[in-house]
Amino acid sequence: MPKTREIHLQSRPKGLPDRRNFALIERELPEPAKGEFRVKNLYMTVDPYMRGRMEERESYIPPFNLNSVLQGDAVGQIVKSNHPHYAEGDYILSFNGWREEFIASGNDNLRKLDPSACPLSAYLGVMGMPGLTAYAGLLKVAELKEGETVFVSSAAGAVGNLVGQIAKQKSCRVIGSTGSGEKVNYLTKECHFDYAFNYKEVDLRYALKTGAPNGIDVYFDNVGGSHLEAAIDNMRRYGRITCCGSIANYNAIEQSPGLRNYWEITARELTLRGFIVTSYTELQTRFRRDVGQWLKEGKIKYRETTYQGLEQSVEAFLGLFDGKNIGKMIVKL
Ligand code: NDP
Repeated sequence: MPKTREIHLQSRPKGLPDRRNFALIERELPEPAKGEFRVKNLYMTVDPYMRGRMEERESYIPPFNLNSVLQGDAVGQIVKSNHPHYAEGDYILSFNGWREEFIASGNDNLRKLDPSACPLSAYLGVMGMPGLTAYAGLLKVAELKEGETVFVSSAAGAVGNLVGQIAKQKSCRVIGSTGSGEKVNYLTKECHFDYAFNYKEVDLRYALKTGAPNGIDVYFDNVGGSHLEAAIDNMRRYGRITCCGSIANYNAIEQSPGLRNYWEITARELTLRGFIVTSYTELQTRFRRDVGQWLKEGKIKYRETTYQGLEQSVEAFLGLFDGKNIGKMIVKL
């Protein structure tokens, strides 16, 4: 019987995960039965939200099971098929990442992909879930208007990078925070952000005052913590904050204290609105059309940071918490 390899969650991390929380397991893969097919994964994603699923707590998505294979989006190709509607060679987007191969029946929430529309890995990033997060979070949740001033944190990452560039398409002034000088250069020189800064080297409030002297209309929050507090202190009256993620707190052992400047939400009449991308799937068609068009016209750019091989997947995941990626973090299998 052919063998395949997959990554299991071996123990639940306390604080920052380390390699010992994961195990690389080899197992046999049965031949596809009638109505089934075998998929070989080519690319898989690692995403910050996966950290939350490693905790034993109920949330908008259930926790990962211990001693079971992890899950996440993956792009694969069918290598053997006994299914009338899925042919060998077809490309598939599945939720069966963190493994090299799997057997599917076609009822597993799969999507056939067009390999000519964009590079296959882009279906995990700019044309996939992170792309839709940026598109929906900015245009629908924040209700962005032309010409506004937008601040986005983790701006060189998969979601943040697209947020800034979509805002530029809407003639906005765009400010981004990120974790290195190289990333600052990428944002200002390649992605045409109006202002970017390395949050590890500056006072956040001062940097925001410099970048947005007239205040911020929309803050797209990927980070939480001190970024959120500093943004609140620089918001314009009636400003909107899209609460997309709070990566600064994902590995915290104890819950961080509440916002010290909570009162400013009232004083400035701000709106803070959380969202989960899966609630916005009705925007998929518009998102693919618009972002696909902007990419084709060269109006937006994207980058990927690629780790090689399943054995590097844990390293890639841990790298998210260390700023190792510019653009989408991808594992090529
Ligand atoms: P990124 O590509 O942005 O990767 C994570 C980045 O976070 C790192 O590269 C690092 O960049 C930054 N980072 C890590 N630790 C910290 C920290 N302590 N403080 C500040 N920055 C930090 O990931 P994604 O684009 O995939 O996700 C961005 C955010 O969006 C995450 O919070 C994620 O959970 C959230 N998200 C939410 C969704 C939703 O439905 N609400 C859907 C998808 C993502 P740097 O070098 O700049 O520090």
